[in-house]
Amino acid sequence: MRSPTLLVRLSGLILLAGLVSSCRSIPAPSARPAGIPPPVIRFILSFDDGPSITKPYNPTLAIMNQLATNDVQPGAKALFFVQTEHPRGGGTPEGREVMRTLAAEGHLLGIHSVSPRGHVDHRKVPPEELEARLKSAQTLLRDITGSDPVFVRPPFGAKNAITQTLYQKLGLHMLMADIRARDGLIYGYKASLFRRVHIRNALIEIWHNAWQSPQPATPLTVILNFHDVNPYTARHMTEYLHILVDEARRVGFTIPDKPFFEGPQALKEAGLCRCIPLQTSSVTSVAIAHSPLDPLCHAP
Ligand SMILES: [Zn+2]
Repeated sequence: MRSPTLLVRLSGLILLAGLVSSCRSIPAPSARPAGIPPPVIRFILSFDDGPSITKPYNPTLAIMNQLATNDVQPGAKALFFVQTEHPRGGGTPEGREVMRTLAAEGHLLGIHSVSPRGHVDHRKVPPEELEARLKSAQTLLRDITGSDPVFVRPPFGAKNAITQTLYQKLGLHMLMADIRARDGLIYGYKASLFRRVHIRNALIEIWHNAWQSPQPATPLTVILNFHDVNPYTARHMTEYLHILVDEARRVGFTIPDKPFFEGPQALKEAGLCRCIPLQTSSVTSVAIAHSPLDPLCHAP
């Protein structure tokens, strides 16, 4: 009779083999149409669920510091979707200080959750309450940053006609991501296994979509989603930047001198061209073409 320990090890190996096979890189992209240069790609880095108020190691600030000093593009700026009233984050004086620091460093702040109950689906908040809380969040971020927030990324990406109409009424634009780093807290495990192959596969999908679009945007603006409250993400931020640029180059994209954004204004303008129009039914989209329905998108 086999020992229980051996059986546990065997089942672990089988599980690992399954994970590896399901995470294998999909085939490399086919050659692009003749005579068309490879598309230029640039990245909007976005972070959800912060700010962190953990001490002494603060993941949000650790990410901010790596964006400032990394060797891929020092001084890169990002978009942080914050939980403005979270009792262990943005709702505390410490959390608001972290948000102030991010804004002072030139990063953009957007709205994620607005409830003191934390990460609450906006569809499950009564509309009158949601409107009041969104307005409070706008006031808070205006006080912190000196300008009105323009982006909202609702928890879980959940939306319906009521929440979308409300965002529009308040001048908020819903911005989701093309590539999710899968670094949310899943089953209490914070590491992101197979992150390189996952990002590569997502970039290959974007490559294929770009050729199918009748009017592919140039440069392609691809939105990444991380979670700045995750210490694993924070400890590997510079590595993630390398993975993004390396894998995009391997897939065939042209990498500009500055693949990330240098300032909040350029970040805002690029983001506005990728917002989800009111009538769209899909929540996450890898359609890279600019959104013609957004009047604030000034891209060609
Ligand atoms: Zn979230």
